[in-house]
Amino acid sequence: MQTIGWIGLGHMGEPMAMNLLEAGHKVQVHNRTISKTNSLVEAGAGRLDSPKELAERSDIIFLMLSDSNAVREVLQQDNGVLEAITEGKIIVDMSTLSPEDSLSLAKQVSEHGGTYIDAPVSGSVGAARTSQLVILAGGETKTVELCQPYFDVLGKKTIHFGSTGKGSSAKLAINMLLGIMGQGIAESLIFAEKSGLNKDSVLEMISQSGMNSPLFQGKKELYRHEEFPAAFMLELMSKDLGLAKAEAGRLGTVLPLADTANATYLSAKENGKGKLDMAAVYLELKKN
Ligand code: NAP
Repeated sequence: MQTIGWIGLGHMGEPMAMNLLEAGHKVQVHNRTISKTNSLVEAGAGRLDSPKELAERSDIIFLMLSDSNAVREVLQQDNGVLEAITEGKIIVDMSTLSPEDSLSLAKQVSEHGGTYIDAPVSGSVGAARTSQLVILAGGETKTVELCQPYFDVLGKKTIHFGSTGKGSSAKLAINMLLGIMGQGIAESLIFAEKSGLNKDSVLEMISQSGMNSPLFQGKKELYRHEEFPAAFMLELMSKDLGLAKAEAGRLGTVLPLADTANATYLSAKENGKGKLDMAAVYLELKKN
């Protein structure tokens, strides 16, 4: 049996690693904040003190980290993953990064003899817990196929988009849509409220309409109570819209709605809402 290493036990990583463990895989974990490893260790996972030790004792190393800075740190720091990468080891990076970052990280890993694939996910904490994620893979086919049994535990569907970086391109495309939809829902609710409509009735109207969606149902109670504990932190949504804007610039394409959403989430983050759920963009718009 191959040994799985998992680095990054935040909102997404913890339930994902737990699902692999509960499916019977041998799982080792590492997290910068050690206390976040407790639930996994209690469930039977091994805990390693550094990314290097984890990589030494794992065949496949999954990363679920905030952003490219976090991934670089975990790979390149003293006692980082790269110090333990040897021929045959595989890194599956499920963090949301830019395609350019994915390509440059893949190059570094291959220089050490290992293989890197990008496999970010669509779906939030609920989907992570219930193995309903959609995995967006980029990288060589034989590695994606080798990882498929693990992806089947983590998600309901894997879509292989092509070479390294294509999973990250797909993730930016879907999250751009998420950010735009999040702002669209918030604006519709604010307009309805300012028109004197009852909020519960408006939430029911959208629920019964063609614009109902798993996204809307997932966030509905947050809008109702105007409390926004994070499943997907607004600062991460802002990061992804920033990455999408940079990538659109590189591709020479103009995306007016994505640009607007990028500016809105950025100002919400700058006004102290970064640690709230992305749906708190509603609060940012409502204060206008
Ligand atoms: P999170 O709860 O903030 O967890 C981030 C993880 O990265 C934590 O384990 C954190 O360690 C680690 N980390 C951050 N900076 C680090 C550094 N410099 N060195 C080492 N470790 C570092 O984020 P999340 O919501 O799980 O999201 C993880 C990734 O998935 C992000 O790329 C996000 O965009 C993407 N994503 C999120 C969702 C969602 O709904 N939440 C959905 C799809 C994709 P500590 O515990 O020590 O802080």
